[in-house]
Amino acid sequence: MTATRIQVPLLDLKAQYATLRDEIRPVVDEIFESQWFIGGPHVGGLEEEVAAYVGAKHAVGVTSGTDALLLSMWALGVEPGDEVITSPYTFFATVGSMARLGVVPRFVDIDPTTYNLDVNQVAAVMNDKTKLIAPVHLYGQCVDMDALNKLACDAGISTLEDAAQAIGSRTPSGGKAGSLGHVACFSFFPSKNLGGAGDGGMITTNDGDLAHKMSVMRNHGMEPKYYHKMNGGNFRLDALQAGVLRVKLKHLDAWHEGRRKNAADYRRLFADRGLLDQVTLPHEIDGGYHIYNQFIIRVDPAKRDPLVKYLHDHSIGAEIYYPVPCHLQECFSEWGYKVGDFPESERAALQTLAIPIYPELTDEQKEAVVDTIAEGLSSIS
Ligand SMILES: *Cc1c(COP(=O)(O)O)cnc(C)c1O
Repeated sequence: MTATRIQVPLLDLKAQYATLRDEIRPVVDEIFESQWFIGGPHVGGLEEEVAAYVGAKHAVGVTSGTDALLLSMWALGVEPGDEVITSPYTFFATVGSMARLGVVPRFVDIDPTTYNLDVNQVAAVMNDKTKLIAPVHLYGQCVDMDALNKLACDAGISTLEDAAQAIGSRTPSGGKAGSLGHVACFSFFPSKNLGGAGDGGMITTNDGDLAHKMSVMRNHGMEPKYYHKMNGGNFRLDALQAGVLRVKLKHLDAWHEGRRKNAADYRRLFADRGLLDQVTLPHEIDGGYHIYNQFIIRVDPAKRDPLVKYLHDHSIGAEIYYPVPCHLQECFSEWGYKVGDFPESERAALQTLAIPIYPELTDEQKEAVVDTIAEGLSSIS
């Protein structure tokens, strides 16, 4: 019973900051002393470093992952009447940004083992209105972009990676998220593996013309100053965010390794406790590199919500990502989707929960998580 007294939050950013304080404070001080809050050397520096990190030629810093999606699709010329292919089992922003451009997404159900869009179902929904294939690398593991790029190439259209949860993730052939499609979108929301001190995002691409267009559009389409050949918006990344993120980027690979070690420890602990007949663990694609933005387990749907409550009652963090797939969200009811349209997405929404995976977890905390899950499952009838 001692195990249940250990507190394990879903994410512990204070533990991370304790290791970074001495590196971050001087950068923040420097930016305050300079009072250079918009643009400047840290924004340009972070763009170069992220482009190099993911293996793309260009990177454009923006306000958030959501704005990365909105701006990149806008710059690609996605417009009302176009169809964009994605999965309904994702964070709302993937689909919300499409809706804001007047697009009705063409959903494809997920592969239940990876929770990523099932690439084998994509060809069947493509038609002459399809403008873009925009899969999500959900939870930190890459979709098979080779297959999607081939379909897109044959149709003369583009691919977009929603890589908000996947910076540093790799495919079995070694390509990194952000370099696998025509354009890719990242988020620096604090809970992502590379999280800022607030909101931020980045778009990467090898297409120099597109990168230039997006860098102009993020500043109201202004070039030169006060002359607008096109519209845009204020999609600029703050210098303070860029400065903090440059410090954190240096630690990112070590944090990924910490998360992967935790995942391996969980696999051993769940097996040791004899839980594998009740709990389905995340599937890792052979040869790929999963960065575990989330560690997602599946349980009997009748036990899922009581288990989350049991964990919360015993000071263990757990969260449901995502309880309602996008095709069933109330604000999209006009699209006419109904329960049963995407059965694997709906099943995942009913069966899954995320448990703590952040790199600073101790062995004692991991044991407490698994032991509390075991107690919870046996106490819920
Ligand atoms: C976090 C996230 C976004 C949005 O990023 P923000 O920076 O929060 O706007 C988009 N797509 C996915 C899959 C995400 O996880």
